[in-house]
Amino acid sequence: MSGFAVHLTRWQRKHGRHDLPWQGKDAYRVWLSEIMLQQTQVATVIPYYQRFVAAFPTVAALAAASEDEVLAHWSGLGYYARGRNLHKAAQIILEKHHGEFPRVFEQMLELPGIGRSTAAAICALAFHERRAILDGNVRRVLARYSGIAGWTGNKVVEEKLWRQAEALLPQRDVASYTQALMDLGATVCTRSQPKCNECPAQAGCIAFNTGRTNELPTPRPKKAVPERHATFLLLMHGNDILLEKRPGSGIWGGLWCPPQFDDEAAAREWFMRSGMAASEGERLEAFIHTFTHFKLHIMPLKIRLSRKPAHAAQPGSLWLDVEEALRAAIPTPVRSLLKELNRRMG
Ligand code: SF4
Repeated sequence: MSGFAVHLTRWQRKHGRHDLPWQGKDAYRVWLSEIMLQQTQVATVIPYYQRFVAAFPTVAALAAASEDEVLAHWSGLGYYARGRNLHKAAQIILEKHHGEFPRVFEQMLELPGIGRSTAAAICALAFHERRAILDGNVRRVLARYSGIAGWTGNKVVEEKLWRQAEALLPQRDVASYTQALMDLGATVCTRSQPKCNECPAQAGCIAFNTGRTNELPTPRPKKAVPERHATFLLLMHGNDILLEKRPGSGIWGGLWCPPQFDDEAAAREWFMRSGMAASEGERLEAFIHTFTHFKLHIMPLKIRLSRKPAHAAQPGSLWLDVEEALRAAIPTPVRSLLKELNRRMG
């Protein structure tokens, strides 16, 4: 074992995390936790993970569920493509692998939503196979420990980090080492103010020894975040609201949202043409929802109908009681809007 691996593994035994609900569990649970933990903190993930596993205890149960049920359990966790891919992958596992999570790295990579680092983490943690991981936390630890400058999302820098991850990988005890690396990134070598004085890797850490822990990893080059605008049309009748299922891909793919338009004029024009009769209209407070790659300015326009349209909702849309809608697969800003409507209705 490299000194790095020895120190980390020893440190993990005493100071690492040993009570995460997916630790020591089967590949399905490890996979699920790895997907949920992408871009999301452990504390946020735990209750989602527990509810998800209770609802879908096996790959077969997940495959048999509808996409709506899966996304309802994902609702609020963000990055919904993760939930959709998980569902698709479960169906593939059922079809191609008889419901058994595949043991082979290359077969894992064929499943939607599983990249090199996630497959390696499942191999290491669930099957004790010797594989290097490189998730967001590990990129940060290795960029600092090995003094690798440059944005870690850059291909050349990423390749250097992978080489380093492979070079430091011990011959045995890979599951403990992998967990140690994850724990170190999450609890000691944190994004800001790393706790270098508690770090088992301090002696060999280039960033620490050269006073560059604040500079490494090199931040992503800044570019202006595009801003977009949308009007949400909140069509209400009594306690019911009209929601539409969004297309399977793109933002909030497969989730339920109020009809969305580029601006208020487009929303009003659509409403006029729909033949529905309004008893009142109201602009609710506009707000901004920030995605990783753009900001969405949302203007909610509430229209209360004097009577419910005679025709049923179109395919892909439905009228739901607001309370019921809150339990459906909806994105976070829609949840906030519905809560606000609920509050107003008293
Ligand atoms: Fe991170 Fe500090 Fe440890 Fe280096 S010494 S790996 S910067 S916590």
